[in-house]
Amino acid sequence: MTSVHQLLHDRFGFSHFRGVQEAVIERAIGGQHTLAVMPTGAGKSLCYQLPALARHGTAVVISPLIALMQDQVRSADGFGFRAAALTSASEDPRAIRDALRDGQLDLLYVAPERATTDVFQRLLQEADIALFAIDEAHCVSEWGHDFRPDYRLLLPLLDQHRDVPRLALTATADKRTRADILVQLGIPEDGLIVAGFDRPNIRYHVRPRDGATKQVKSLMTAQSGPGIVYVPSRNAADKLAEQLDSPHRRVLAYHAGLDPQIRQRNQAAFVDSEEMVMAATIAFGMGIDKPDVRFVAHAGVPKSIEAYYQETGRAGRDGDPAEAWLFWGAEDFARARRRIETEVEPERRPQERERLNALAAFVETATCRRAILLRHFGEEPPERCGNCDNCLEPPATIDVTTVAQKLLSAAFRTEMRFGVAHLAAVLGGDDNEKVRQFGHDRLSVFGIMDADELALVRPVARSLMARDALRADEYGGLSFGPGAKSILKGDERLVIAVPPKRVRRARSSSPE
Ligand code: ADP
Ligand code: ZN
Repeated sequence: MTSVHQLLHDRFGFSHFRGVQEAVIERAIGGQHTLAVMPTGAGKSLCYQLPALARHGTAVVISPLIALMQDQVRSADGFGFRAAALTSASEDPRAIRDALRDGQLDLLYVAPERATTDVFQRLLQEADIALFAIDEAHCVSEWGHDFRPDYRLLLPLLDQHRDVPRLALTATADKRTRADILVQLGIPEDGLIVAGFDRPNIRYHVRPRDGATKQVKSLMTAQSGPGIVYVPSRNAADKLAEQLDSPHRRVLAYHAGLDPQIRQRNQAAFVDSEEMVMAATIAFGMGIDKPDVRFVAHAGVPKSIEAYYQETGRAGRDGDPAEAWLFWGAEDFARARRRIETEVEPERRPQERERLNALAAFVETATCRRAILLRHFGEEPPERCGNCDNCLEPPATIDVTTVAQKLLSAAFRTEMRFGVAHLAAVLGGDDNEKVRQFGHDRLSVFGIMDADELALVRPVARSLMARDALRADEYGGLSFGPGAKSILKGDERLVIAVPPKRVRRARSSSPE
């Protein structure tokens, strides 16, 4: 039998395995069930493609996205595989089924909802299966960030083929999700292989949002090479592309609302380009193989820390220096929290809150960003990485507990329905009409802040919202969240990093 190294060289043209690939591949070839947690770009496909060649029969790959499957088939074709995807878009499903029965396929991609049908299960009974690869395996877990009920039906299917090795693959799974995937797919605990999550060549930066377009523009001036800017809506993607596109530096939009042809064209242009910027929603990125993306920017906070890791992970896959920028606003967290409380099923709320809190901690920290990220993924990183904004330029921190207490008191005294501008007016003793109209000039909190404290009200409000001590309703009205009490009582102190520029600016302008 040819050795795995020879296959790697002859069939893929690669000189050596990366990271945990070899360990994963050896388990799969040896017939053992495995869960491989490997970050984006680590080379998960090879982990099932190579065993598909080394073992007898067809590797059945469960993959959740049809668009992704087509890319994978194309890429496998390129390596000389006999590969097919059985989807509603398949031109000749019968030919694919025949090829499978006749042992003419190395790889068969199929979506979970199809894989679990009776028809497909009968088909598999007639086929020789080399292995089951379950891609995006976090979809099987309710703890994961993208639960798909169809994945739950895979276990009975897999159990019909007990001696076929299972290889579950995912890029994003925290400890609890990993444990759950093992159970849900019948993989023993010692079958877990986790690759290091660190992407040392990515430099992380986080800044409060202060005119996203302007911030992205100056980022583009400082940073050459291809980049992706994630924005929160289709509309924002169109607008950003419109505002920043120039003959010197193309900026195109990508989102699910675009005509498929335009979307494809923009994507192809990006993949080919050496300096284009894509203004995109999260619809963009999965399955796009572009190793030289030099920066990924977020003009608003992503859904979770996992999503953030995955999206920024599209930068610098070639190993050369790359940048990740996050521009955030307190309203991002307020909105995300409202979404959790109104749109997420009650059973799933605790874990969604936790994921958002982890992201808030990443955004809020005055210490190493990478350390927070890696700890979330179960690693024990050094205290400082030397390649994030906070390590490179340790921010000045201030204890703002008193300011926070005054702000919380003002929210409380005004019956928790006013926004930060009004609260600042009350606290600053601004005798304006609205303050008088509500009789807020007679409150004990009226005029209790000096100018220095007032300058900190907005960063403090942002910080309190990020940690869910203050919650904003859709009109910006602030009320207490669960974290308010301990700060108000002085059991917990609030320390924030203050970007010096913001302090100066806030001080020089009069309070609103
Ligand atoms: P993932 O699915 O983990 O994000 P892919 O399977 O798409 O990653 O692989 C990322 C890129 O790395 C692909 O271009 C792939 O061909 C390449 N690659 C994978 N393994 C190796 C290797 N051992 N040596 C060199 N390149 C590799
Ligand atoms: Zn760091």
